Amino acid sequence: MAEGRRTGGLPRVLGGRYELGPKLGSGGMAEVYLARDRRLGRQVAIKVLLPRYTEDERFIARFRREAEAAAALAHPGVVSVHDSGTDDGVPYIVMEYVPGQTLREVLSREGRLPPARAVEVALQVVEALGYAHSKGIVHRDVKPGNVMITPEGRVKVMDFGIARAISGETITQTATVLGTANYLSPEQAEGREVDHRSDLYSVGVLLYEMLTGRPPFTGENPVSVAYAHVREAPVPPRRINPDISPALEAVVMKALAKNPANRYQSAQEMKEDLEKAVRGEKVAAPGVLEAEAEAPTVLIRRPPQVERGWARALGIGFLVLSGSLLLAAAAYYVYRTVARAPLVEVPSLVGLDVEEAKRRLQAAGLRWDIRNQYSDKPVQTVIDQDPPAGTRVQRGRVVVLVVSIGRAQVEVPKVVGLPRAEAERILKEKGLVPRVLLEPSDEVPAGVVFRQDPAPGEVALAGSRVDLWVASGPATLEVPNVVGKAEEEARAELEGMGFSVIAQYRFSERPPGVVLDQNPAPGQRLPRGSTVVIYVSAGPLPTETPPSASPFPTFSPTPSPTGSP
Ligand code: ADP
Ligand code: MG
Repeated sequence: MAEGRRTGGLPRVLGGRYELGPKLGSGGMAEVYLARDRRLGRQVAIKVLLPRYTEDERFIARFRREAEAAAALAHPGVVSVHDSGTDDGVPYIVMEYVPGQTLREVLSREGRLPPARAVEVALQVVEALGYAHSKGIVHRDVKPGNVMITPEGRVKVMDFGIARAISGETITQTATVLGTANYLSPEQAEGREVDHRSDLYSVGVLLYEMLTGRPPFTGENPVSVAYAHVREAPVPPRRINPDISPALEAVVMKALAKNPANRYQSAQEMKEDLEKAVRGEKVAAPGVLEAEAEAPTVLIRRPPQVERGWARALGIGFLVLSGSLLLAAAAYYVYRTVARAPLVEVPSLVGLDVEEAKRRLQAAGLRWDIRNQYSDKPVQTVIDQDPPAGTRVQRGRVVVLVVSIGRAQVEVPKVVGLPRAEAERILKEKGLVPRVLLEPSDEVPAGVVFRQDPAPGEVALAGSRVDLWVASGPATLEVPNVVGKAEEEARAELEGMGFSVIAQYRFSERPPGVVLDQNPAPGQRLPRGSTVVIYVSAGPLPTETPPSASPFPTFSPTPSPTGSP
């Protein structure tokens, strides 16, 4: 490649047109970069197939065919595919760049979502899928990593049909390639025929996870997860999160039916039921008790109920009897201890090292119970006690010591891709202190975080600082045309844009003060703060001008009268 390579061997410019920028992320089979489309002067996201998949030509052909099919989709809920190509044997897909985060990132950060928000996301996903289905395209890989949430909260689904490129392989391979089997429908897991209802099953999984904080089936490896999709009944979501309405639970369970014939038959049907569920109306899906009754195989069996009536009665009788005996014994013990123990004064322990506090309690004939608590105080320091110092209590009484375990450790959430205000809010909620560093950028929209330190996933102490780099606007500016304008006007325009200005004066037939020329020429792009020279008319070359009329300091060849001889 004439334009050089990046580290990692990728050309710097793909197809002579797309300038690769920073990496946005990577998945099981590809890496995604932010890029600039030179021809259209806009930002795009470019998905580049990982080298280990670029050897199989049939695979590449399938990958590109799917990309072309997806390029036919135009819907606000679908990430558009603009172009696809191969550069130096590396296939790539050019997509609409969506600033924001994937639902995967949102879920890892927030755990489950409030039901209303979960339904809002699911509805938008279902709408986008309904549109694609109407064009004959099945997504086949609906999962949180393929759902983008923009900073405005809009949902966009990406990677339509791409999974088909890998469907030639066996299920284990497919699952590994896709990174997860958590969202596969039973028919996909079994390698049977897939249709639009498979996508609706995956939306069921997605919705289940948004509502409960975990997917319905998890396991040690993709095969065991796939097995569960085929064989096991999901735990009804209301058992995990009682805030979910029974109607919404019914919708989720219907979407998760093993047999496609028992699911929603179209995205439209599912959308209508979801809308009913949020409005609190009766849904078409059967309630969970019925759904459970028809569940195919429940692997966990309840212990058999063999007790007969009399055996049960005897058991209860025994429990009651032994319970009363225990109570009586406890009461006697308490009476003896309390009645006999002399009173002692609780020492002052706050601020002491916990070991020292224990020694003093022991010396006073008291016992202790330790409660750990995060705090700014040094680790192992007693930060509170109960009862307070000076209280007179029975000897042998337990004093609760609240002991500092230092500041809480928090996992730094990912805020790259979010608008500044939201990033700051999320960090503050976690107990971290955001610091904003503004930096011009041509790639990232103004106001959006494009870098953070510490990186997402790192562990930091509560109260520690997280630096956020926020785009302040374009880094390079286009030089405007100021020729013909008055000097002051030209200066104001250039300085207002962020250039600095140097004026040079030249004799000219043009009226004085008019800009004759400029350097650099209009239309060139320069970094913010660069200097633009303007050449300004000083009027015609004077023929016999008194020195004071010239705009320039005059130089007199005659020695000054006060000078030395
Ligand atoms: P996966 O779907 O397994 O997450 P992908 O290779 O499809 O893997 O995408 C990797 C990551 O790249 C995504 O998780 C997302 O963060 C980012 N990404 C992909 N496409 C886009 C896009 N069009 N705009 C912005 N970010 C994107
Ligand atoms: Mg993807």
